[in-house]
Amino acid sequence: MTSPAASDTAAVTAAAARRLFVQRFGGEPVGTWSAPGRANLIGEHTDYNDGFVLPFAIQHRTHVALGVRDDGMIRVASTFDDAAVEMPLADLDALFPARRDEIAEWARYPLGVAWALLASGATGAHGIDLAFASSVPVGAGLSSSAAIEGATASALADTWGLDVDRIALAQAGRRAENEAVGAPTGIMDQMASMLGRADAAIFLDCRSLDAQVVDLGFDAAGLDLLVVDTGVSHSHATGGYGERRAACERGAAIMGVPALRDVSVDDLARAEGLMDDVTFRRVRHVVTENQRVLDTVRTLREQGPRAIGGLLVASHASMRDDFEISVPELDTAVDAALAAGAVGARMTGGGFGGAAIALVAHDRVERVTDAVTGAFAASGFTAPTIFTVTPSDGAGRDA
Ligand code: ADP
Ligand code: MG
Repeated sequence: MTSPAASDTAAVTAAAARRLFVQRFGGEPVGTWSAPGRANLIGEHTDYNDGFVLPFAIQHRTHVALGVRDDGMIRVASTFDDAAVEMPLADLDALFPARRDEIAEWARYPLGVAWALLASGATGAHGIDLAFASSVPVGAGLSSSAAIEGATASALADTWGLDVDRIALAQAGRRAENEAVGAPTGIMDQMASMLGRADAAIFLDCRSLDAQVVDLGFDAAGLDLLVVDTGVSHSHATGGYGERRAACERGAAIMGVPALRDVSVDDLARAEGLMDDVTFRRVRHVVTENQRVLDTVRTLREQGPRAIGGLLVASHASMRDDFEISVPELDTAVDAALAAGAVGARMTGGGFGGAAIALVAHDRVERVTDAVTGAFAASGFTAPTIFTVTPSDGAGRDA
């Protein structure tokens, strides 16, 4: 499979953001900033349980061209939408969260980040124009939302001269997503987008926010990471996601702990006797998934990426059978990839659609791609989009 070099794509997308800026706002931007989407190697639905995750930033990025204004207005434009949204910075506080429905949904992400940064004490903020363009597929479980939040946070922090670290910027993104957009997500996506490193994953403790860089070494091991975007759209704002969170909270309360992070694999036998079957299976997913993240980090460090396949497969089975967040398209992608020789495969992201990942030897990529495409056709599913992702650097000003 050939894909354009990541640096080419980034340059093209940054140029698109600049072009949009000139079209919508006139004048020249002072620069462009960008932040990546992310794929999660393992650790699903563990973040809001105070647990462990192992995401990495991908080469697909959202770029923002920024201009400085001499008034107190903020304007945002995106290649997503024909209309720019503008308002005085001073009005953001009245907009979020109560009156957020008054603006286009996409604009709540960047305006929400500005709001969160101002609410956390940013002073001396002057007016800003922001124009966005992105190469991150939307709604594919690759977190285009964290990418737009991260690009905004990075650009505003630099331009407003804020004395904040990357963790604070990730937290501003999460606050925007939770309160300005209304999606009850954890901190993983924003941390991955902020802290990502080329050829590495971020091992994140979602309780302490301690983050360690873990070398992946896919290329050196002759491996590619494929994403299979099923095209089945998911929405965090509805249904299943909230229900799963509630089940986790119920399970933690029954076990008498602050979060499922505090339940170990050895506690599961006791847990089974204390709760109904559905709650127990939700708990068992989170508890075993946390352990799988720890095992994956150790395996990567001691044996390298070819040895993590079994952990990926076990993660998928747990999400399919215990957490029940897979869909037939994701199961088909995983089963077909494994049958065609993938080292490991699993659904990634929040579930109910989105994407699967498959770790595949270079010389098997074509075979796996054909097998997954063929299995989708045989099942009557819409053809998936399959592409490789490369572990990449996090948010920052473009060169
Ligand atoms: P995901 O993060 O998995 O891609 P989400 O539903 O969390 O899916 O976030 C997608 C939403 O984020 C889009 O519907 C849009 O509102 C907003 N968004 C993402 N990227 C952009 C962009 N470049 N311009 C405008 N809005 C964007
Ligand atoms: Mg998202």
